[in-house]
Amino acid sequence: MSEHQPSSAPPPACDLLIEGGIVITLDDRRRVIEDGAVAVADGRIAAVGARSELGVYREGAARIIDCTGKLVLPGLTDGHTHLFQTLGRSLGDGMSLVPWLRHFMLPYSLNMTREIAEAAVRLGALQAALSGTTMVVDNHYAPTDTETTLAAAQAVEDVGIRGAIARGVFGEMNPGAELMGVEPRLFMWTAEQELAITEECMAERPAGSRVEVWPCPENIVYVTPDLIESCAQLAESGGVRWHMHCSEAQDEIGFFEAVHSARPVAWLEDRGLLSERTTLAHAIWLDPDEVAAMGERKATAVHNPVSNQYLASGVLHLRPLLSAGANVALGSDGIAVAGQDMFEAMKSGTLMHRVAHLDPTAATVEQFLELAALGGAAMTGIDGGSLAPGKAADLVVLDIDRVRHTPWNRPAASVVHSGRAGDVETVVVAGEVIVEDGRSTRVDEDEVRAAAAEAAGKLFGKAHLTGTDLMKDWQ
Ligand SMILES: [Zn+2]
Repeated sequence: MSEHQPSSAPPPACDLLIEGGIVITLDDRRRVIEDGAVAVADGRIAAVGARSELGVYREGAARIIDCTGKLVLPGLTDGHTHLFQTLGRSLGDGMSLVPWLRHFMLPYSLNMTREIAEAAVRLGALQAALSGTTMVVDNHYAPTDTETTLAAAQAVEDVGIRGAIARGVFGEMNPGAELMGVEPRLFMWTAEQELAITEECMAERPAGSRVEVWPCPENIVYVTPDLIESCAQLAESGGVRWHMHCSEAQDEIGFFEAVHSARPVAWLEDRGLLSERTTLAHAIWLDPDEVAAMGERKATAVHNPVSNQYLASGVLHLRPLLSAGANVALGSDGIAVAGQDMFEAMKSGTLMHRVAHLDPTAATVEQFLELAALGGAAMTGIDGGSLAPGKAADLVVLDIDRVRHTPWNRPAASVVHSGRAGDVETVVVAGEVIVEDGRSTRVDEDEVRAAAAEAAGKLFGKAHLTGTDLMKDWQ
């Protein structure tokens, strides 16, 4: 709430005043303000309240955006994606994991060059921005040399969103990788080289950068224990989070147990590797003790409902994880598993848990909005995810003056069930308008698309994907 200033006082500083519209705050009281307003100064939220209360900010506002008839939401975080895979849109559909990897993702990844990866990441980041995602955790694993990793970070930053490039670390070939049948060519650096490259990238993009670099041992099954521990230590010393695929497919539990005689998350707990810095993509196949450990250590599970349905991986223990005190964020897992945007993730996640439990109360729309905004902010360590004074000024304005939103009865249910990426009109990150009238203010969309199409042509030729079954329809 704002304080009314005496008339002699100068008007309060305000870089941007969003006024009018319905504001879903996700603040401590979960207020939804009809005819609300949000004042932004120095990249942070200065005040939130009714439009009439924030009138004091009008005089000093550098810019006022009229949002009458629109909806204002906190920015959404995509807690797990692979932007370099964006050129593979629609390929690999209907395949199970092993052929998907062998015939699609492996040739795709191994034939990536820096130039192609950069074009793919820029396209993916642009799609994220245009769909109201203000932060991405991008697991980048091809190629992972210093220059390409930093080029990926720059491509995300160019679009204006926040990000963490979770640099994929494989290290040396090992028994877990053999059991999983992971392609040896992905293990191209020694453990020392992996750590040195990651450290070098982190030094260029330290904690607090608009786009950070995090260590990301690719998967708990096929990265060696020492290297996983070193990555966690690197994150600790750099003051950032670390990321890893963990317990996604049921088979992975058996593979891990065969090598380590322990379940994956139990092993992390035993090694003291679970903390607020630990962000695990998927974390589906957990037993009750593992769920309790995630909660006790306040670790993050990133839920990827579209991907988990696409690859039929399983259903996250959502309620038990939240009750145990774990942080749950929401991810798309990228275009290659049909993860397009956070609106799809929120809707699909809500419905997935209802059918899995044959119970329409198993997940709520409010809960999924919270995972996408608050869960994402907690995962990445940004003091944001809600519209409240002092929080990061990351917000999204939706145009709800549309047939599919009429009549507008319950804001949270309307956003999750009827909301689409195409409703996004304005996106603000750290107080900067990066999307206006549904268009990027930072990059030329036609150029980004043309560069991506050209890169896809080069990649598919190199990887011999053209003319294969992957590219045929109805045959
Ligand atoms: Zn993934």
